[in-house]
Amino acid sequence: MPELPEVEVVKRSLEKNIINLIIKKVIINTNKLRYKIEKKKIKKIITKKILSIKRRSKYLIINLENKKSILVHLGMTGKFFIMNNDNKTKKTSFYYELNQGDEKHNHIIFHLSKNTKLIYNDVRKFGFIKIILTKDLLENSHLKLLGPEPFSKKFNLIYFKKYIIRKKRKIKDILMDQNFVSGLGNIYVNEILFFSKINPKKSVEKLKSGEILRIIKFTKKILLNSIRKGGSSIKDFNDGLGKKGVFQQEFKVYSREGKKCHRKNCSELIKKFNISNRSTFYCQRCQK
Ligand SMILES: [Zn+2]
Repeated sequence: MPELPEVEVVKRSLEKNIINLIIKKVIINTNKLRYKIEKKKIKKIITKKILSIKRRSKYLIINLENKKSILVHLGMTGKFFIMNNDNKTKKTSFYYELNQGDEKHNHIIFHLSKNTKLIYNDVRKFGFIKIILTKDLLENSHLKLLGPEPFSKKFNLIYFKKYIIRKKRKIKDILMDQNFVSGLGNIYVNEILFFSKINPKKSVEKLKSGEILRIIKFTKKILLNSIRKGGSSIKDFNDGLGKKGVFQQEFKVYSREGKKCHRKNCSELIKKFNISNRSTFYCQRCQK
């Protein structure tokens, strides 16, 4: 499932490939993703130029010249492919491979100027594409309640402390709460707590300032690191159909149940349990 770094890399790939192109035609091969595709609204974006690409949390926003925006969520398996003049399919991020037979899940194809196609592919169809007025973005129901971006200055010690006052929730639950901080998903929250040496079950009322500062620091650091690694492999996404992307995401704790802790001088085995039905991995010796 794409998390914030994966979506940020999609955004950067799209910026490199489709800015200033004009939407010539849109082919819709499905009538329903997570929400119904509004064909009438899609008709109205034809002949319009793509001005900019933004990301908010795990949402992509493609701003068009007619004061309209395309709001995209990739859901569980959403992918954008780019096809240029050379007719080769190219990936836009590092979290998936190009596979033969993927074409049957090409649900929406934007034909753009310069012989470019932007293809939305989604095996499980939990993603969505909506056309909305750019001026309504801030009030959009998907976006308006989102907490600060992890990289923003607003995500700081004062904000953190204020938010958790009188709360007794587990730290892992709070970090996954999109109203608290937006864009963090299960994988990166596991990693952040491992680096911060905090037990995922720890109640937020017991967190000391130093621990909160560690969580904030590693949130930014781990996400940035993933974006940087994924971003630096953008050129490798340009592989033709069937070739694997070069970048493989490495995790220190996520999905490592029963394996030795990665921390120096620790030989503890990583344990797995569930918090709010989500897989949680931690080292009971390092994470207090
Ligand atoms: Zn350990």
